[in-house]
Amino acid sequence: MKRVFFFGEGVAEGAGLGKERLGGKGAGLAEMTALGIPVPPGFTIETTVCAEYTRAGLDGVRREVTDSLARIEASTGKRFGDPSDPLLVSVRSGARSSMPGMMDTILNLGLTSATVQGLAALSGERFALDCRRRFLQMYGDVVLDVPKHDFEEGLSRSRAARGVASDADLTADDLRRLVAEYEEIVRRHAGKPFPEDPHEQLWGAIGAVFRSWDNERAKTYRRLHHIPAEWGTAVNVQAMVFGNRGDTSATGVAFTRDPSTGEKKFYGEFLPNAQGEDVVAGIRTPRPVNADGSGTSLEETMPRAYGELLRVRDLLEKSFRDMQDLEFTIEDGKLYLLQTRNGKRTGFAAVRIATEMVSEGLIGEKEALERVEPEQLVQLLAPVFPLKEKADAVAAGRLLGKGLPAGPGAASGRIAFTAERAVEMAKSGAVVLVREETSPEDIAGMHAAAGILTTRGGATSHAAVVARGMGKTCVVGAGEITVEPRGAGLRARDLRAAEGDWISVDGTTGEVLLGQLPTRPSEILQVVLERSLSEAESPLYGAFYRLLGWADQHRRLGVRANADTPGDARTAVLFGAEGIGLCRTEHMFFEERRILAVREMILSETVEGRRAALAKILPMQREDFVGIFREMEDRPVTIRLLDPPLHEFLPNDEKSIAAVAAELRVSSEKVADRVRGLHEANPMLGHRGCRLGITHPEIYETQVRAIFEAAAESIRAGGRPRPEIMIPLIGTRAEFEKLRDLVAQVAATVAAETGQAVDSKIGTMIEIPRAALQADKIAAAGCEFFSFGTNDLTQMTYGYSRDDAASFLPAYVEAGILPEDPFASLDADGVGELVAIATERGRKANPALKIGICGEHGGDPRSIEFFHRTGLDYVSCSPYRVPVARLAAARAALAESGAAASSTA
Ligand code: ADP
Ligand code: MG
Ligand code: MG
Repeated sequence: MKRVFFFGEGVAEGAGLGKERLGGKGAGLAEMTALGIPVPPGFTIETTVCAEYTRAGLDGVRREVTDSLARIEASTGKRFGDPSDPLLVSVRSGARSSMPGMMDTILNLGLTSATVQGLAALSGERFALDCRRRFLQMYGDVVLDVPKHDFEEGLSRSRAARGVASDADLTADDLRRLVAEYEEIVRRHAGKPFPEDPHEQLWGAIGAVFRSWDNERAKTYRRLHHIPAEWGTAVNVQAMVFGNRGDTSATGVAFTRDPSTGEKKFYGEFLPNAQGEDVVAGIRTPRPVNADGSGTSLEETMPRAYGELLRVRDLLEKSFRDMQDLEFTIEDGKLYLLQTRNGKRTGFAAVRIATEMVSEGLIGEKEALERVEPEQLVQLLAPVFPLKEKADAVAAGRLLGKGLPAGPGAASGRIAFTAERAVEMAKSGAVVLVREETSPEDIAGMHAAAGILTTRGGATSHAAVVARGMGKTCVVGAGEITVEPRGAGLRARDLRAAEGDWISVDGTTGEVLLGQLPTRPSEILQVVLERSLSEAESPLYGAFYRLLGWADQHRRLGVRANADTPGDARTAVLFGAEGIGLCRTEHMFFEERRILAVREMILSETVEGRRAALAKILPMQREDFVGIFREMEDRPVTIRLLDPPLHEFLPNDEKSIAAVAAELRVSSEKVADRVRGLHEANPMLGHRGCRLGITHPEIYETQVRAIFEAAAESIRAGGRPRPEIMIPLIGTRAEFEKLRDLVAQVAATVAAETGQAVDSKIGTMIEIPRAALQADKIAAAGCEFFSFGTNDLTQMTYGYSRDDAASFLPAYVEAGILPEDPFASLDADGVGELVAIATERGRKANPALKIGICGEHGGDPRSIEFFHRTGLDYVSCSPYRVPVARLAAARAALAESGAAASSTA
């Protein structure tokens, strides 16, 4: 079977074979050749040889390689090893997906002390010696394991001796000495002279590429990017073209569209008289491809080659139907293409390129949806630091450290070390709340802050979860920074800062900088929320809107948002939410004006006392719901009754204890006693959720009354509210029945009082494994909807406390015991099985049952794919992730139908 594929002069034996066999680079070279694009001739040894190499070496392909090399010779008219006019080649690795960590490319292979003379006679001595010294270094480094550093030292010594800064200024004499020195370095390290036989060089290089598939760097990269070890790499051997042949030669890289904005504008850089990766290596400052008035651009200095490049660009885009990232070399004015691949791009560019390619007729809507990773949309919503200002700050030594990017965006503000101070200070300007960790008591401060920074905690810590929900910029776990006790300040290395000092956090990268940086709200937000920019003024918004419109046509899952306030609800609707999947009532309790009444309620020892306190809370809750119903119009609003353990609301410092004591007219000691009495050893598994509703029915009664009174009021105002009452933490059918009756009774009472019938539903969260298993019993008890609370369900299925898992989860993931953090991406095998069981059993008992998910996973694209496959009706996520979920849901539907199509094919 054929395993080596020649390409050159318009013929590509491997055209159409694809990346699986040819690797990305080889496939690109074959396709370009077949399109008639000028590509130096060469051949690709396919990926299957990689695995065979370890067992059997290269014997199986020796003949094919020799034959293909002869074809390169025929096509170039040069011979490998010919001392008068030698053929030189490059040897390049190339896996299916581009893989840093693999062997570096070797250029100018075939140069020996004999052939270098021939090359010098033909093309000049300096040029020939420059090629030779590059070759010695690359081959020495990657094939013979000579430390790179030894070569670099030699090179900088030569530069110093000559008194020049650039390699390009070394003379032929300098290079001759350098080449001799390099040969000596190789002899010393390898214990034998540099190979003088070009064929020996070639086999050595091919073997090194295959071996590099299993080096540590490559293995690490594969593990991090889920690339299977069986794939293997291909090897490409290709005739050299020389961009370092004087001033009519050059080498460069380009993108067919702007990779940061997506604008349809050719974009690239080049260096005259240079080879290989000189452009990206930063040795000399590259020049722009397009004319920019400097007179140094490719367009101005080599107009013919530039014109040819533009022609190639169009051909490539038409053929690959995606933005291409390409490498080119110009030798004596003639253009050659050396690589093309789908270019990496920002979220902005991804959205814009995908939609514009639909307009151009290059791709269809479905393909456009496949071209944008849902996660990339987050970038479009986040505020940003201008890159230049940030780089200046880093250069000035103001980088405090780096944590996990938990809430994308950019925020600058004055440091506050407590939530109270944050609220206070926010009245007069932007604040960044800096804490070791946050807790529910910090909500108000987090709300008030422009950004949040914690020095402990991971991606699912309280700070991270709440910040994502609020769409706040947040960095967590910035371990290099120490927060000193009692708000004394923070320090990192030799840097210090105190309350009120400026700090800047980049929640997209995790960087934390001392000082103030300017920020800009994202363009999309300027259009959608601020309305400071009109839709017509923003092509980016236009693209975003179109893409999500297509997503809506293709998805089956509904998308709702988790929103606790009218403001969040409005944001959610503007981002396209079709309802609220989770409205948490406890956040309402933390508000400054209310917390006292809440504490009074918890601490009173009698039902009457609790009722009196609840009476104060009722009108406030009612107002909350009226506001939310107004924003949501006729969309469903799932409201969860009180869920967290009561101790989260308790006063824990003297001042707040005294305040409650005064209100209750008892002594502070008495209150402190009661606080101690309510202490629980394991509150997450303690007195919370529906258990509270059962022992303290007046709490739920008050909440349900507030909901129905608010609904009645909304109806009177012409609205069509659709509340869905959700009972948290149900584990048994009896629990549900009891609370179902409570809700029904209050609803009936309020209906009688107000004369308004409300269109409502009652349902439960499924977050305790027992509830998932008993789903049929619960569904049969008049339950109209399920909503999976996958945070608690994950916690209870694994038995991992979400608040304590940071101490072992990273180690588990590192060791491969868990593939990833199950709180971030749903564990489809275990937790997912419970979701599937509950869905099936629930629907069997009640075919009309509506099923959704409202945990953190509702905004995670991979989890969304699982929920789609499992047949849920909707996902619910934070308002800022609604666009992500809409796109992910569409892609899940497309992936499913694609899979169906190919399995029938
Ligand atoms: P990478 O995988 O790191 O991109 P490449 O194999 O593309 O490595 O090669 C590195 C550099 O060498 C690129 O700039 C490429 O264009 C250049 N190069 C590779 N082969 C040749 C060749 N035959 N002639 C001239 N330049 C080459
Ligand atoms: Mg490289
Ligand atoms: Mg390359």
